[in-house]
Amino acid sequence: MNITRGQTVGSKRGPADYFTGTVWVDEIAAGPNQSAVRAVSVSFEPGARTAWHTHPLGQMLHIVSGVGRVQKEGGPAIEVLPGDTIWFEPGERHWHGAAPNRAMVHLAIHQADASGNAVTWLEPVSDADYNRPA
Ligand code: MN
Repeated sequence: MNITRGQTVGSKRGPADYFTGTVWVDEIAAGPNQSAVRAVSVSFEPGARTAWHTHPLGQMLHIVSGVGRVQKEGGPAIEVLPGDTIWFEPGERHWHGAAPNRAMVHLAIHQADASGNAVTWLEPVSDADYNRPA
């Protein structure tokens, strides 16, 4: 058994190459251990979002607070609320972020592949995609 105390793990700013707006990432499960499971809590300011990206083994999001938006390639930007759980298929192009006027926090749970990769980053999300209606 190992206990990692939360106050020993500093919040990390989401890099501008991969995020639009201010985003803070708090690691929950990052190894090192035998599990390939990775988990982070991600806090988005209003309007902030990830870049387009894929996960080799898929990803589960659980909305903890605020109002969010999620989109898969070719689809509308869909509003998501606390208690919602979203699954992205392996290789599915998508993004996630906050609504324009509300912050959002989600848990993100995914697995690293055999090479240790859990995400492939692509281009930023345009305002047109961010606001794409159903
Ligand atoms: Mn994702």
